[in-house]
Amino acid sequence: MTNIEIDPVELSQSLIRCKSITPDQAGTLDLIQEILEKNGFQCSRLPFKEENSPEVDNLYATYGNKEPNLCFAGHVDVVPPGKIDQWEEDPFSGKIKNNLLYGRGAADMKSAIASFISASIKYILINKKKFNGTLSFLITSDEEGPAINGTKKVLQWLKKNNIKINDCIIGEPTNPTKLGEMIKIGRRGSLTGHLTFYGKEGHVAYPENADNPITQLINTLKVLNEKKLDDGNSFFQPSNLEITTIDVNNNVTNMIPQSASASFNIRFNDEHNSESLTKWIKEVCEATAKNHKLDIIVSGESFFSEPGKLSNIIVKSINDELGVEPILSTNGGTSDGRFIKDFSNVAEFGLIGKTMHKFNENISINDIRSLSIIYFNIIEKYFD
Ligand SMILES: [Zn+2]
Repeated sequence: MTNIEIDPVELSQSLIRCKSITPDQAGTLDLIQEILEKNGFQCSRLPFKEENSPEVDNLYATYGNKEPNLCFAGHVDVVPPGKIDQWEEDPFSGKIKNNLLYGRGAADMKSAIASFISASIKYILINKKKFNGTLSFLITSDEEGPAINGTKKVLQWLKKNNIKINDCIIGEPTNPTKLGEMIKIGRRGSLTGHLTFYGKEGHVAYPENADNPITQLINTLKVLNEKKLDDGNSFFQPSNLEITTIDVNNNVTNMIPQSASASFNIRFNDEHNSESLTKWIKEVCEATAKNHKLDIIVSGESFFSEPGKLSNIIVKSINDELGVEPILSTNGGTSDGRFIKDFSNVAEFGLIGKTMHKFNENISINDIRSLSIIYFNIIEKYFD
């Protein structure tokens, strides 16, 4: 076994150089596994494949076998780079310019993975003899994609094998503009509705012989759109419904169309769940529209981890390194926290999200080094 300190910036560069566009791990998991195994971790590679979705490779790695188990969860897959000529640097070169590391995944979230690996190995080097817990990694390459064969399946595998995670840190880029300003202790849920209304087509001059589905559509959307879902609460902003598209595809002006459709998305807090919202939407549709079809897709329930030991440790660790007090927030999109919350306490803390999913995604190398120190502080406070 060779214990060598890992430089988090160099490892971030190596990970960025692997072109791991979702769901292809493209060598990232091999690299991580090699480093972790060299440092005494037991690694399990967990490829999953469900019909109609691509096979996804995942990694679960552990050091130690006692409770408590502190897990770092993250994803190596990235969104596509988009138009390469819009980038100042090759998105897969891992180039550093003016102290900024450029590349797809620099912020979301390869550098956070590298920082946690670096912090863990440093901690193990110092505390090998007295270590009495479990340090683990749950790394997927299906977070940016459909998230069917990723974290969700690994958690089922852990359950089947009676492996318990007590506390989990997800390394998503939680800070809007400055390192240390925000931890996420929950997320809103997300639900999408697709509605189609059927009427009877006909000539506009003879409306008595037709039934205009657009009228029904407008009436229904008005009720859905105008309803105040809640006022938010101390940790969540108010739930919100946004109509995302209205489609009739009628190219002529003298015809009442046969059908009309619309889609909407609701980001909801813990005052609701997908079941209560689905019930409400169905009631509205039944009361306002006649012949219609409603499809609802739930991409995640909201979750909330009561501030406690884990978030306190993260707050203290950030404060020790940066002298700032982070906000405990629940805003932003969904994350794999929606799956992990059923198995473990969860909090999310990583780098700065400002450039994620954009051209010229980049992160300051000073922030990567600071994050690695913060993660080290977290591990130390957690186990000591
Ligand atoms: Zn991410």
